[in-house]
Amino acid sequence: MAELPSTARAVIIGGGIIGCSVAYHMGKLGWTDTVLLERKKLTSGTTFHAAGLVGQLRTSANITQLLGYSVDLYKRLEAETGLQTGWKMNGGLRLACNEARWTEVKRQATTAKSFGLEMHLLTPQEAQDMWPLMEIHDLVGAAFLPTDGQANPSDITQSLARGARMAGVKIFEDTPVVRIIVEQGRIRGVETPAGVIECEKVICCAGQWTRSLAGSVGVNVPLVSVEHQYMITEKIEGVTSGLPTLRDPDRLTYWKEEVGGLVWGGYEPNPKPWAVKGIPEGFHFDLLTSDFDHYSQFMEDAIARVPALATAGVKQLLNGPESFTPDGNFILGEAPELANFYVGAGFNAFGIASGGGAGMALAEWAVKGEAPYDLWPVDIRRFGRVHRSVDWVRARTLEAYGKHYTIAWPSEEMRSARPTRRSPLYAHLRAAGACFGEKLGWERPNWFADLGAGEVAEDRYSYQRPGWWEQVRREHLACRAGAVVIDQTSFAKFTLKGPDAAKALNLIAAGNVDRAVGSLIYTQMLNERGGIEADVTVARLAWDEFYIVTGTGFATHDFDWISRNLVGNCQLVDVTAGSAVLSLMGPKAREVLARICSDDLSNAGFPFGTARQISVAGCPVLALRVTYVGELGWELHMPTDCAVTVYEALRTGGGVSNAGYRAIETLRLEKGYRAWGAEIGPDHTPVEAGLLWACKMKSGLPFMGRAALEAQIAGGVKKRLAGFTVDDPSVILLGRETIYRDGERVGWLASGGYGHSVDKPIGYGFVRRDGVDEAFMTSGSYELEVAAERVPARLHLGALYDPAGARIKA
Ligand SMILES: Cc1cc2nc3c(=O)[nH]c(=O)nc-3n(C[C@H](O)[C@H](O)[C@H](O)COP(=O)(O)OP(=O)(O)OC[C@H]3O[C@@H](n4cnc5c(N)ncnc54)[C@H](O)[C@@H]3O)c2cc1C
Repeated sequence: MAELPSTARAVIIGGGIIGCSVAYHMGKLGWTDTVLLERKKLTSGTTFHAAGLVGQLRTSANITQLLGYSVDLYKRLEAETGLQTGWKMNGGLRLACNEARWTEVKRQATTAKSFGLEMHLLTPQEAQDMWPLMEIHDLVGAAFLPTDGQANPSDITQSLARGARMAGVKIFEDTPVVRIIVEQGRIRGVETPAGVIECEKVICCAGQWTRSLAGSVGVNVPLVSVEHQYMITEKIEGVTSGLPTLRDPDRLTYWKEEVGGLVWGGYEPNPKPWAVKGIPEGFHFDLLTSDFDHYSQFMEDAIARVPALATAGVKQLLNGPESFTPDGNFILGEAPELANFYVGAGFNAFGIASGGGAGMALAEWAVKGEAPYDLWPVDIRRFGRVHRSVDWVRARTLEAYGKHYTIAWPSEEMRSARPTRRSPLYAHLRAAGACFGEKLGWERPNWFADLGAGEVAEDRYSYQRPGWWEQVRREHLACRAGAVVIDQTSFAKFTLKGPDAAKALNLIAAGNVDRAVGSLIYTQMLNERGGIEADVTVARLAWDEFYIVTGTGFATHDFDWISRNLVGNCQLVDVTAGSAVLSLMGPKAREVLARICSDDLSNAGFPFGTARQISVAGCPVLALRVTYVGELGWELHMPTDCAVTVYEALRTGGGVSNAGYRAIETLRLEKGYRAWGAEIGPDHTPVEAGLLWACKMKSGLPFMGRAALEAQIAGGVKKRLAGFTVDDPSVILLGRETIYRDGERVGWLASGGYGHSVDKPIGYGFVRRDGVDEAFMTSGSYELEVAAERVPARLHLGALYDPAGARIKA
C-alpha cells in the first residue's frame, strides 16, 4: 500500500458512496491532490446494505436536478471505469389507494412536468400490466417515472472510487481519522494512526459517525441513527429482471426485483432509534439483529398487495442502521462554525439515489467556494442552535421517519420536540386561540380560532381548502380594514457595530445602507453571480451601528453569509433572543398605537422607511416603519421583558385583533412581496426577480454582485418573475404548478396561495425564455397545470392589491 502523504489539498473522511462520489468529482475538477481516508473498508458503513432504489422526484427543482445528475452519472460510469454498477433504468411505479393520495400523485406528476422529468399517470390496470404480481382492487391510480431505476450500492461506490483513483485521487482504507486538527480557528489537518496529513480543506462524509466527528471541532451535524429493515425473498415466479421499482406509500412499503426475488421494505410509524449512546467501536460490515416482530406490522398489507409473498421463501430480514435528519433531507455544505470544513451526511435512506449528485455538488462547493446552484433544502445552514440538542433532533427525526410515506399535506406541521423556543407572549396567544406552527424551534402563531364561538385551534389538513381557511380569511380582512397585531418575535436579528460597519455592510448590500441615522433599508445581499443570498431589512441606529432583521429560518444562513463577507473593524452579533417583535399592521395602526404612545407617529414625523426609538406603554421600543402585508404599520422591536406589557396595552381598548403567519402569507402574495427560499434565492438575481429598484445601481457605489447585474441589464435575462391569478376561486395553488404560455411550458410556480381581498388563487413563478422581457410576458395567454389539469390564468407584473381601491391591476 502507498505511504500516507504528509500533505494534501483536501482530505475526504469516509469511503461510503458519498465520500467516494466526492473523491470522483474532486478528480474531475482537477483537485487530484485529494486524499480519501476510510477507517475500515470502502462501503463498510451503511452503503453495503442499501436496497439500491434510485428515485428522483423531490419537491425542490434543484434537488430533483441533483438526483437526475446521479442517474446520468450511473448510466455512464461503468463504461468510464470498467467496473459494473448494477444500474438498471427499469422505471419507478408509485401507487395511490385513496382520493387524497391520488391528488398528491397528480400534483407530483405536475411537479415532475414543471421540472422536466417524465412521469405518466396510469390507470390501475395499466399499473398492473407493468407489475403483474400486484393486486389492484383498492387502487385509484398510479404514476410511472420511466427514468428511475436501481443499482448495486457497493458496486457503484467501488466504481466511483476507481474513477477517483484514475484521476489521481489517493484512497486509503483501514486509516481512521482520529482527530481533526484545528488551530486558532483554522483547519490544519487530520491525524491518523499512520501519521498526520496537513490540509487546506476537510470534507466529512462519515455517515452516521459524522455527528460526533464534526462535533469534536464544534460543528453541529444534526443526524441520528435509526434501524431500517428490508426483507429479501427467494425467487418468485413472475418476478422478472425488468420489473420497475414499486412504491406503495399507503401501505408504507417499497419493492424491488433482486435475482428473481423481491427486496421489500418500509417505514414504520414507530421507528427504532439506534446507537443512542454512541456507535459501537469497530462496527463495520455489520448488521443489526432482525426484528421480525417490528417488521410484522407491514406483513398483512404487503401480502394484500403482492399475494405471492404469502408463500415466498424468506432469505433474510436485513436490519441496518442509517442516519436520518429532523426534516428528512440530507446535510450538505461548508459548516457555518468552521471555514473549510465541509459536510455530506444524513442521507435518510436515499443516499444511493443522491450519491452522484451530492458528491458533485459538494466537490464543487469545496473547490469553488459555493454550491453549483441553490441547495437551500439540504444546506447545513438551515439548522440552528436548537439542533444542537440531540434529544430534540432524535424526537423530531423519528417523527419525520414515520412520516416518510404518509401524505405530505400542504402546510403540515410537525408535532414532536415542541414547544422549545417560546415568545414571552406564548401563553397569552394560546389563551387567545392561537394554533401554533414551528420554525427553527420557535413556536409561532399560524392562525387564531375564535374559542368563544366554539372553534378549535387545531390544523385540519386537506388538498382542498384547509380547516383554517375561514380564520385566515378573517385575519386577512381585519388587517386590510382595521389593525392586527402579529407576534413575530422569532425574526432573526443581528447588530453590526464598529467603525467600519457602514462601509463593510454597503459592500455586501445591493441597496444603499450608508444613509442617515434612522433610515430603514430593504435590501438584498448578492453573490458574485448576482444571486440573492439574503433578503433583509436594515435599520441604521448610529453612525457605527446597524440592526439587521431577517426571516426566522434564515438565522444561521444569513449570519454566516454576512459574517464571512465582512471586512474591516466591525462585529456581527445575533441578538434574536433579546428582542421581541410585535407587528402592528392595518389602516388603523396609527390610531391604535397613538393610544399608548405619545411620540410623533404622523407620516411627516415618522415616514415610511425610517426607524425610531419610541416609548410604547412606558416601554422602550425600536419602531420600524415597514410592511410585509401592504398596509400602514410598524414592526415594534422591544426588549423581551417588555413584550407582555406592550401586547396587553395594544389589545386594551379594542380595535386590534390577533393575526398569524398564514394571514401574512396571503397578504404578502397580494402585494407581490418576495419571499427568500420561495420566489427568490441564490439562483435568482434582482433583475430577474423585479427587485432592481432596491439596488444602488445609479449610485456608482461598488457592491458584491454589481458586475453580474450590469451584465444582465445590458445583455438581457433568461427568466423573469411574474404573478399569476386564476379566476376560478376553487383552484388550489400550492407552488410547483406548471406555467404554460400559448400552450408552451415556460416555467413553474415558486409559490402559491390565495388572496382573500382579491378573492382569487395567486401564484408567483419565473417565465423562462432566452431574452424574456415585459413585452414577451404580457403578450402571451397563460394556463397553469394544477394536479394534472390545465386552468386558464392571468399574468400580472405589479401588485394585485392596492389599498387605494383598485383590487386587481391587470
Ligand atoms: C436498510 C437500508 C436500505 C436502504 N435503501 C436505500 C435505497 O434503496 N436507496 C437509497 O438511495 N438509499 C438507501 N439506503 C441509504 C443508503 O445506504 C445511505 O444513505 C448511504 O449508504 C449513505 O452513504 P454514506 O457514504 O453517507 O455513509 P456510509 O456508507 O456509512 O459511509 C461512511 C463511511 O465513513 C467511514 N468513517 C466513519 N468515521 C470515520 C473516520 N473517523 N475516519 C475514516 N472513516 C470514517 C465509515 O467507516 C463509513 O465507511 C438504505 C439504507 C439502509 C440502512
